[in-house]
Amino acid sequence: MIALTRREFHLFQAAGRDFLYLVPSAAVFALDEATSAVLRVVVESPQPEEAVLRALADRFDVRTVRGAVAELLQVRAIGYEHQPEEQAPRVLPMMPFPLSTMVLNVTNQCNLACTYCYEYGEDKIVDTEHGKQSKFMSEDTARASVDFLLAESSRIAHLTFFGGETLLNFPVLKSTIVYARNRAAELGKEIDFSLTTNATLLRPEIIDFLAENRIGVTISIDGPRELQNRFRVFHNGAGSYDVVAPKIKELLRKHRSRPIGARVTLTSDTIDVTRIYRHLTEEMGFWEVGFAPVTTSPNQQYAIGESGFDRMLGQFNALAQDFLDHVVANRHHGFSNVKDTLEEIHKGVSKAYPCGAGLGLLGVSTDGDVAVCHRFAGSDAHKLGTVREGIDRGAQAAFLEQHHIADKTDCSRCWARPLCSGGCYHEAHVRYGSTRRPNLHYCEWIRGWTDTCLKIYGELSERNPDFLARFDRDEAKAEAVL
Ligand code: SF4
Ligand code: SF4
Repeated sequence: MIALTRREFHLFQAAGRDFLYLVPSAAVFALDEATSAVLRVVVESPQPEEAVLRALADRFDVRTVRGAVAELLQVRAIGYEHQPEEQAPRVLPMMPFPLSTMVLNVTNQCNLACTYCYEYGEDKIVDTEHGKQSKFMSEDTARASVDFLLAESSRIAHLTFFGGETLLNFPVLKSTIVYARNRAAELGKEIDFSLTTNATLLRPEIIDFLAENRIGVTISIDGPRELQNRFRVFHNGAGSYDVVAPKIKELLRKHRSRPIGARVTLTSDTIDVTRIYRHLTEEMGFWEVGFAPVTTSPNQQYAIGESGFDRMLGQFNALAQDFLDHVVANRHHGFSNVKDTLEEIHKGVSKAYPCGAGLGLLGVSTDGDVAVCHRFAGSDAHKLGTVREGIDRGAQAAFLEQHHIADKTDCSRCWARPLCSGGCYHEAHVRYGSTRRPNLHYCEWIRGWTDTCLKIYGELSERNPDFLARFDRDEAKAEAVL
């Protein structure tokens, strides 16, 4: 008799029941008592259906067990032992792929000297001090970038300003927004703007401009005074907290047209997630806060090691529980890492690539060189073309060909790969010297965090499904605009 055997899934418990995260389809499947019991029998050892029936005879009738087997076969949680598991086909994106986001490095200079910054430390890819790239993007290059973006995008385009410290080049940023808006209107397209800043240069007229123009703003900040001042310092070593705190409060007070988020870099010395979150939301007034571990080679003293990732996961889990409690009570919670992952789970995202870099997202250096993302912009080794001459489609296709998840053999049996897909190329470059390598130093953390988000998802699917349905409504809204 042919045995039933398990296929690829991650089993988790939430809201008092079992759920499956089905890896090939990236779908979440809630199990009832019978499907759960059948699955557990098959997981223990491959069994013919008749043996499963016998094993569960005292708990369920034959019809219920057969129905559960059929259902599990249908969602491919189990299969027949003699039939090899179907491998997902290696599908490469159709080229040319529409560009949706362009990140402009309007300057590679910064008025801070954050100790851990990937642009200035030993891990840097581009020499921003003595290299050939201009220190500031010209108005002309910024306009050429806008023209490039609008030519390559579909109906909606996103333009993000980045640095260095973005606001060091505020005049170009300001004129580019005006230009881009006019050009987009002429072409019948929509364009949306955002920027990232360290907040040191915010002043009233800049704040007014950002608010009036509905510019999305993300502030890089690491939390309360002593955590911010640990790494985010001026060139003379002075901490930046006392400079940025009043400016941020003023920005949050006046810029009400869009929610404003904080982006925190965690290091081995500053993993204090709950405290940072509370400070930034309750004391400063940010709408949401996202955390990312520092990108660095492992030999830096502030690099997060194995025990640091464990600690970080424990703190993320505690804050995720807080998020769940708030959302169940229909209250806002601004822990954006969990919200973003829930959205991906809800939409059944299964990534062939870890992010949009080189696909729907490109980065532009101060001189107009185009690279897969802002972190590589200005590096000759990662150049795909220029905004004036266009990009080398062959080089772009080769990048996508070489970085597909199907070729990351270490990831091929990992249940978290639909959401992780090997992780950030820049991190891999810094850690392992190659963008093609998966970030195997943080797999336990990724799997632990994905498991937490799946459990939150399971809880919400039972206790506040309307919160999850909002992701569909947001998507429908975006499609209606398209
Ligand atoms: S990098 Fe690690 S966690 Fe991510 S998909 Fe690969 S094996 Fe899984
Ligand atoms: S490669 Fe890394 S830094 Fe670049 S867009 Fe992707 S995740 Fe972000």
